[in-house]
Amino acid sequence: MNNELSPSQIEILKLIEEQKEIDLPPPRRNFDKTIIKVWTISLSQWRVAKEKNIPLLDITAKSGNPCFAPNFETVIAYKSGKVSEEDYTRLYYEKMRLSLKEYPDQWKALLNASEVALACYCPADVFCHRYLFQDMLEKYANRHGVIIERCGEIKK
Ligand SMILES: [Zn+2]
Repeated sequence: MNNELSPSQIEILKLIEEQKEIDLPPPRRNFDKTIIKVWTISLSQWRVAKEKNIPLLDITAKSGNPCFAPNFETVIAYKSGKVSEEDYTRLYYEKMRLSLKEYPDQWKALLNASEVALACYCPADVFCHRYLFQDMLEKYANRHGVIIERCGEIKK
């Protein structure tokens, strides 16, 4: 597995950086809201999210917020078949539990969004940590009295 970004990934990153959408979602305007609409998306579909005005949260090891991204080494080991889906899941959850302790403010900031799309390079409906993160975010949000509405995968 090549560690370098492909030309299409580089193009996506440039476009996203121009749109300034790879950071945390903007603060919630209405603080009475207790529901966050959570989508998942392949970064290749970022234009569809843009059209719908849904902010992206890039959680990839390559370009995303490191607080919510898997270890790059874990990703490479998984892609080369050295780490199973089960082990990848366990390692990712372990990293997220540490992240919760180390970066509580980053996690709290997520609860300020009224809507967010969890983004990774993987195509839709394959094993991907964005679905694992969605589960974890839901548990975290529920503990803080916030309900997650699962809106599914953003596709064309
Ligand atoms: Zn993925």
